[in-house]
Amino acid sequence: MIGLIDGNNFFVSCERVFNARLHQKPVLVLSNNDGCVISRSNEAKSLGIKMGQPVFELRSLIKDKKIHVFSSNPDLYRNMSSRMMSVIAEHVQNLEVYSIDEAFCDLSFISNADLDSYGQNIRKKIKQYIGIPCGIGISHTKVLAKLASEFAKKSKKNSGVCTLIRDDHIEYALSCTKVEDIWGIGKRSSRLLNHNRIYTAKEFRDTDPVWIRKKLSIVGLRLQNELKKSPCLGLETIAQDKKSITVSRTFSKYIQNFNDLIPPLSYFVSSASAQLRAQKSVVNRIGVYLTTNHFSQSQTQYLNYKTSLLPAYTSSDFLLTKHAISALKTIYKSGYSYKKCGIYLSGLKSDQYEKTLFWNETESLREKQLFKTIDLVKEKFGFNSIQIADALGSSWKPFSLQRSQNFSTSLDEVMTVC
Ligand SMILES: [Mg+2]
Repeated sequence: MIGLIDGNNFFVSCERVFNARLHQKPVLVLSNNDGCVISRSNEAKSLGIKMGQPVFELRSLIKDKKIHVFSSNPDLYRNMSSRMMSVIAEHVQNLEVYSIDEAFCDLSFISNADLDSYGQNIRKKIKQYIGIPCGIGISHTKVLAKLASEFAKKSKKNSGVCTLIRDDHIEYALSCTKVEDIWGIGKRSSRLLNHNRIYTAKEFRDTDPVWIRKKLSIVGLRLQNELKKSPCLGLETIAQDKKSITVSRTFSKYIQNFNDLIPPLSYFVSSASAQLRAQKSVVNRIGVYLTTNHFSQSQTQYLNYKTSLLPAYTSSDFLLTKHAISALKTIYKSGYSYKKCGIYLSGLKSDQYEKTLFWNETESLREKQLFKTIDLVKEKFGFNSIQIADALGSSWKPFSLQRSQNFSTSLDEVMTVC
């Protein structure tokens, strides 16, 4: 049996752990630059606020209903997530951390009769130790467990845990689930299915598998088999190394000058190269892209990108930054107001590759030691504690005017009790 443990309204729940005044109040957490809603408390949902809704549409509602609003606080959410995952890991055999607030786990060591109480126990422990309320779905496969977790969230009768095991319960759940709500069915696939008069998960499960294979490939067939209680998606208990890394941001204000684009670009390279070194990878290709604000109808638009091939595989901030700036020079045009920039690294290889081919040429041992030390300093004192000079300058950084404190990760910001 597979369980899916899902933190409820996760970012809002993280804020509530450290601020008791937020309980039973409408609360919102906003995206980058405080642009739109990315997490809502149930009280905010009941006011009709939608996921992804731009915050400017909500100004008067926020004021009238005294809604608490927070900027996104990624450091806090990541830390609370890793604490939540540690508690889950103590109670299950195999764990796949699927996203910041969701984890699949193997519950086959528990008898069917005890699954519900075991789920309740995990849920209680997470609430007790971390303070985050969770929904837990348990069933034969990952896709059915995901479906069960939706029922766990919606139905008060389930008290946060839904075990979808009995055939009549599965039939009921599938018959009242729309195809677009099946985990793994995207917008295009659901449009195609609807076009062929397949509207519910039950109808999808009972469709001819040959037709499904033809129209939705092996991916659709696997989903169909999962709904038939036949596991096709295994638990990925070891986090896979990334094959590519992208870092980009929308600027808090427009940037016109070339020199003002260098700090954000260098900052993105630092972030990407730290991720490279963390997974012991190197890269020989870096792409840079630059764009104006495509939502603005009054401005002239421009978008361009450039990929550079490096002379060797590396994870050095210095070499990557140098090539990123050269790429930026070729795509930058004066006279435009830029709103976003980003870098991407592709074709990642193990750092063993670098040692084999370029063991003494590309980076000196001294430089390697330097970045090892820099990474340790960043880990201990925060990512922004040390930067290469090109990355200095913060005028581009996104707005986060209403960010809560980093209660659990920064000594300077721990909660004070007067
Ligand atoms: Mg969630």
